[in-house]
Amino acid sequence: MSEPIPSQAFASLPLPSELLTTLESLDYRAMTPIQAESLPLILAGRDVIGQGKTGSGKTAAFGLGLLSRLDVMRFQVQALVLCPTRELADQVSGEIRKLARALPNVKVLTLCGGVPMGPQLNSLASGAHVIVGTPGRVEAHLRKGALDLAGLDTLVLDEADRMLDMGFQETLEAIVAHTPETRQTLLFSATYAEGIRPIAERLMKSPAVVEVEATH
Ligand code: ADP
Ligand code: MG
Repeated sequence: MSEPIPSQAFASLPLPSELLTTLESLDYRAMTPIQAESLPLILAGRDVIGQGKTGSGKTAAFGLGLLSRLDVMRFQVQALVLCPTRELADQVSGEIRKLARALPNVKVLTLCGGVPMGPQLNSLASGAHVIVGTPGRVEAHLRKGALDLAGLDTLVLDEADRMLDMGFQETLEAIVAHTPETRQTLLFSATYAEGIRPIAERLMKSPAVVEVEATH
């Protein structure tokens, strides 16, 4: 798929002014190649498969996308980011919180395994706009009825290749069954492995594929 060569300036995008201010304060001067290729599509509401090496800036690509759709006054989970490991989920939560800091009262909750359910259940009961988590624990909360994804706008499968390698395919599909058909689905991965294609075909609507070779 050939898209026009996009501008590298974040200000060329239809992003809320709070996010542009934050990007300036973070000293993110220009979009990385994967951001420049994927953000116009993401902000237009397309499903996107984004492939770029580690360090190419994939988190801000989907993070800005999901934050720009967020309605803080709606007390529902509006975005869910699934990551293969707790370490990655913590990194992604940290980056999304950083990007969200000029948007008042955005609640980002991390749900990973290996820790007791109790405190997570309490946090869920008080509400969250964005959930970042690992598939097993997110599914456990869904089974308990503690997590409601009926209002989900954006689903992100981060490091999808690794999640599939780790055997999470069925868990991912079980989670997706709790989300509305109208959601936007974004799939990011370091490699565009053959293995991704079947799950992308089942879970995504005519996804745009963005592949970036070089790191910035
Ligand atoms: P990936 O998920 O592709 O491995 P990350 O999203 O973790 O990469 O980004 C790598 C690093 O680049 C992070 O420290 C992030 O803060 C930084 N970064 C992302 N986008 C930009 C940008 N446009 N300008 C400067 N730094 C950026
Ligand atoms: Mg990443």
